[in-house]
Amino acid sequence: MSISIKAPDICPKIEGENDFYSWPLYRWLSNFPSRKSVFLGLSIDRGTERLIPYIGTMSNGEFRGRALREMCFHKDGPMYTDVFTEVNGTLVWEDITEAFWSDYLRIGVCAIFGSIAHDWEYISEATRKCKHCKKAERKVIKQVPMTLWESLVKVADEAA
Ligand SMILES: [Zn+2]
Repeated sequence: MSISIKAPDICPKIEGENDFYSWPLYRWLSNFPSRKSVFLGLSIDRGTERLIPYIGTMSNGEFRGRALREMCFHKDGPMYTDVFTEVNGTLVWEDITEAFWSDYLRIGVCAIFGSIAHDWEYISEATRKCKHCKKAERKVIKQVPMTLWESLVKVADEAA
């Protein structure tokens, strides 16, 4: 997968800060200009299986890179690569490079973190819109039925 993106294309406005773009992802691309393929692979965390994105390079079933979100969580984290092989299921990892970068250029950090990255701008008391991905929401207040267990003994008796 050859994609033309380069570090300067995704540089946040202030050094060391996330804005529309992620500072760690900018650092990643500055350190490893060619490690920019993105694959969806299986991760097993404390017995729970999840599909998560990895960034790096894939060659003959060997992936050199990092779990994208984990890397992007640490603003000043060390820049290194892990190696993932067939035992990590790399042969069935899905190449999402093009989709990821096109989303990232369009919606910034929301393409990495999804719903936890939204930077809300409050348009009114009851409406908000994400500055990055433009997702808009309105506030809804709902009453949720709740099941409680009440004592058979009267409250007054309990207090006595
Ligand atoms: Zn957003």
